[in-house]
Amino acid sequence: MHVNYDPQIAYECVQCGRGCFNRWDINVEPEVAQSVRGHALELRVIQDRGQAFREHEGQLIIHKDKDHPRCGFLKEDLLCSIHSELGYQAKPLTCQQYPYVFVQTPDRQIHASAVYSCTAVREELGPPLSESRESIEDLLRRGARVHRLDGNIEVLPPFVTTYSEIQAYEAELNRRLGQMPISAAFEEAILGLANALSSLGQPDEELLLEEGFLASTWGRAKLVPQEARTNLQLVKTILSMGLLKPCLPSQDREVWKKIDAAVLGDAELEIPDFNWHAPLSELDLWLTEGVGHRFDGQIKRFQGSLLFRKAHLTMGGLLPGLILVWIMPSIIRLLTGLHAWKEQVESTQSNFLWALETAETHLVGHTFDTVPVYQRAAWQSVAISRSYPL
Ligand code: SF4
Repeated sequence: MHVNYDPQIAYECVQCGRGCFNRWDINVEPEVAQSVRGHALELRVIQDRGQAFREHEGQLIIHKDKDHPRCGFLKEDLLCSIHSELGYQAKPLTCQQYPYVFVQTPDRQIHASAVYSCTAVREELGPPLSESRESIEDLLRRGARVHRLDGNIEVLPPFVTTYSEIQAYEAELNRRLGQMPISAAFEEAILGLANALSSLGQPDEELLLEEGFLASTWGRAKLVPQEARTNLQLVKTILSMGLLKPCLPSQDREVWKKIDAAVLGDAELEIPDFNWHAPLSELDLWLTEGVGHRFDGQIKRFQGSLLFRKAHLTMGGLLPGLILVWIMPSIIRLLTGLHAWKEQVESTQSNFLWALETAETHLVGHTFDTVPVYQRAAWQSVAISRSYPL
């Protein structure tokens, strides 16, 4: 097994229990449920919340509800009771694997990284990830969850391409990321690819792109007119405000409607979660002055990890994935600024860390299926390009 380790990640668990507080589902193998059945461990949870496990879409998960959002097996001292009483390997594999993520590319290489919803990963607490080689390889041998990319790779469904085309494209993207500001490199990639796809129509069935198609998109990017670039910025604003919704602590759908009304220009922006009530333009001003670029280095590290773990290929296709990585600085700055506003401070590291945790948790696939959102934005950028044929 050949495993590559994300050089951006430093990690050693600090036992904060924070990952166990989140509202995502925790899958449980039937043997794990069996091993705690009737045990004092399970009885404590049943006493507290009625049941320890339940089925969801054919999968056994840890039971949580509105009144009990954290894992029932988490003790007061923030340690896992299954781990403490029955040992590390008695825990569900999902918990043993957290915070690692594994992606296998068609060349059989495994890319090991970790998610920034984990405190230690976010704050770079611990040694480089490669030092966890032994436990990672053990997890992989014992059947850890691996996102496998096989055969052709989606560019924007129904368009697909070969992995060797993708590898050449990634090499060029990385070269550009080393040479120009990161957002400019992504904008060139998105504009070029959207423009090239817009010249193909929209087939009903899977269509394998011609060899050299992806490489040709870089040349197109240079020719895209200024109006298309301006419209892409509009997509950025609309998408950022759309992605803000699943990140709101209240999850109040009435607030979602208010955000939509503000984006359409029908009302001032009102977000009670952050005590924000002012025109959208004032939010821009606050983000420029109150957040600025002070967290750019840390955001770049996160983007580096997203690329390492192939988020640009696993989140609905190459174009939606590029849009995801491109939009992250905007949404993280937005969340940082709103969090700072609520506390009436200029943005601090703790506001930023909250924003980073929130963006990773809700926008890269743990709690919400955001793939359709990135795919919709990708089709919007293709539609914009149709108005500017080259
Ligand atoms: S969030 Fe990370 S650091 Fe905290 S307990 Fe979980 S794995 Fe450990």
